Amino acid sequence: MPGLSHNERTLVILDRFDRPLRSLRVSVTDRCNLRCQYCMPEPDYAWLPRQSILDFEEIAVLVDAFASLGVDRVRLTGGEPLLRRDLTELVAQLAARPAVRDLALTTNGVLLASQAHGLRAAGLHRITVSLDTLDRERFQQIARFDELPAVLRGIDVAAAAGFASLKIDTVVIRHRNDDELSALLDFGKRYGAEVRFIEYMDVGGATKWSRDAVVSRREMLARLSEIYGSIEPVGGRDSAPAERFRLPDGTTFGIIASTTEPFCAACDRSRLTADGLWLLCLYARGGLDLRHPLREGATREELAHLISTVWSMRADRGAEERLGAPAREVLIPVAALKRNAHLEMHTRGG
Ligand code: SF4
Repeated sequence: MPGLSHNERTLVILDRFDRPLRSLRVSVTDRCNLRCQYCMPEPDYAWLPRQSILDFEEIAVLVDAFASLGVDRVRLTGGEPLLRRDLTELVAQLAARPAVRDLALTTNGVLLASQAHGLRAAGLHRITVSLDTLDRERFQQIARFDELPAVLRGIDVAAAAGFASLKIDTVVIRHRNDDELSALLDFGKRYGAEVRFIEYMDVGGATKWSRDAVVSRREMLARLSEIYGSIEPVGGRDSAPAERFRLPDGTTFGIIASTTEPFCAACDRSRLTADGLWLLCLYARGGLDLRHPLREGATREELAHLISTVWSMRADRGAEERLGAPAREVLIPVAALKRNAHLEMHTRGG
């Protein structure tokens, strides 16, 4: 049996704010087949060198090292993860690890129709599809490719593929798609998919971000209350980024209020880029290079030691610090992004 059994996972490490290391987002590629305005608005990008991209065996070794320290939730991300060739092989490898209790994937959905059943068969538990609008012309304006029909097909196929959960993530931007909240909720309901509205975030790569374009959690709830009546919170959030709510008809949805009401205090997430840089926070300027020690022959135990040493010193609370910034503008200028692809949201896996 590959990986670690539950019994082998005895160590729990805490950072400087007593936050455990539980959840790992693994980017499998920095490439994407869309160019969403809130993530990749620039005309061209610097990409990670191909030879630096971790192969599946390398990713599996790192996941085992993380799992030995308590990570039991793994989410595959990108860029667009479905662009990575033979991704089902990685899914099958990770799904076979008992320590990985929850294996999920976030996709833009463009290639999902042809891959959903294969991913499910390989053992993927849950899937989240990004969908910002139901209007084809608007989709093209936001994502700059005419791919809404493909995404909708992908959601249709995924809904029938038998995943434990299907979610839809919507980045809400003023004057772009903020008039579609209820249409998206109705759409999600048809597919048994919970919709999560995400506040527009000023992360690296969001070079068109402005405070005025943010629709806050508070405003979303006020608008939805006007349409649906009273909305009640659903408890049990734990460390999940989304706060969940229930409409009077029982429909549940989430809001991820990273911009106006961040939740760093409970954050147990970290990110691994496709070339093996481990980032302790979405806003972190740098990270721990795990590719070099891995390729130089470090054992799983040695990698775990490195990881636990760094996590125990973690004091990141990027979104909360941004909230306190006096003049909140674009986080990282374009010139700096061009010099360092690791600062980009599409490299660090959103
Ligand atoms: S900003 Fe950083 S510390 Fe805060 S929730 Fe996001 S990843 Fe976690």
